[in-house]
Amino acid sequence: MTEETMQTFDSTVYTDDDADGEAIAHKTVAVLGYGSQGHAHAQNLNDSGVDVVVGLRENSSSRAAAESDGLRVETPAEAVAEADIVSVLVPDTVQPDVYEHAIEPNMEAGDTLQFAHGFNIHYNQIQPPEDVDVTMVAPKSPGHLVRRNYENDEGTPGLLAVYQDATGEAHEEGLAYAAAIGCTRAGVVETSFREETETDLFGEQAVLCGGVTSLVKQGYETLVDAGYSPEMAYFECLNELKLIVDLMYEGGLGEMWDSVSDTAEYGGLTKGDVVVDEHARENMEDVLEKVQDGTFAREWIAENQAGRPSYTQLRTAEKNHEIEAVGEELRGLFAWQNDEETEGEEETTEEVSI
Ligand code: NAD
Ligand code: MG
Repeated sequence: MTEETMQTFDSTVYTDDDADGEAIAHKTVAVLGYGSQGHAHAQNLNDSGVDVVVGLRENSSSRAAAESDGLRVETPAEAVAEADIVSVLVPDTVQPDVYEHAIEPNMEAGDTLQFAHGFNIHYNQIQPPEDVDVTMVAPKSPGHLVRRNYENDEGTPGLLAVYQDATGEAHEEGLAYAAAIGCTRAGVVETSFREETETDLFGEQAVLCGGVTSLVKQGYETLVDAGYSPEMAYFECLNELKLIVDLMYEGGLGEMWDSVSDTAEYGGLTKGDVVVDEHARENMEDVLEKVQDGTFAREWIAENQAGRPSYTQLRTAEKNHEIEAVGEELRGLFAWQNDEETEGEEETTEEVSI
């Protein structure tokens, strides 16, 4: 990264030199929620010298954690009333309720409503008044890495978007916030609430969470139905995926192709598009359309209002898939996974948002 603000393809990437810490230095930030993102933002801001108050319900189990991390804790309403910047880091599904009861009645003109994901603003589940700034600083990493990187003097890449600029200072303040949590050390990409929300939802549905698990299950079932052993099918279709993804993460598709055998490369190059063919592409376009026109958002909001009946059923079915039982047994037999899990300080159940 050069000293200058970098222009890559269509996006602007900001680094430490672009951020002015003064834009946040004398402000109070209310961090609502002390989960994955909340604990990282609150502690990083605090260590960067910003005045932080964590907003949690009286009965929240996170209160003790925030207090033992040396942070001041108030109720969400009290924290908002004190703050200049309200960082909304409770789960997306509860944000509209927290906004209605704790944020909206206690915000003042000129304050900032700050998000780490655009869903509720983009789909109008939260409609802020015109006299506040609305920004997003979204680290592209789960919270425990945002915190760990900061402590190691490393950065976490992030996104910055301004939805509403009532004060004329929203952008500068957003960049200063991104710097204070360590994102400009790595690079902050300028985006919009619409682009972040739609690409995030599409990515998790079509490729990362939905696409990949379907590919794994279909591959596994194809082998097992043809009479191969479940153990072999598990290794080929799930376990080895990590090795492939690690290579792509490190050096793109090219590093992966260079690292596998010529046979694997030729077979993959000729058969990949046969499996994930034009029908899959059409289905992806359909998934994208439903993200863009709000169909998916309406479906998910209604599902939550109904008490999550389909979600519960689908989660149970997924848990009961044969590949899960086979995997559990194999992971128990082999030492490689257990070592890795006990080394990490984070809980392995930590929710990862991508
Ligand atoms: P989380 O589930 O880890 O933590 C939520 C916190 O909110 C918990 O401390 C919980 O106690 C608290 N909470 C729950 N209900 C509450 C209520 N009614 N009132 C007050 N507090 C309440 O959430 P998260 O994953 O950190 O997500 C927060 C935001 O960050 C979301 O907008 C999410 O999309 C975004 N985001 C998450 C990640 C990630 O890796 N987890 C990455 C980027 C962006
Ligand atoms: Mg995501």
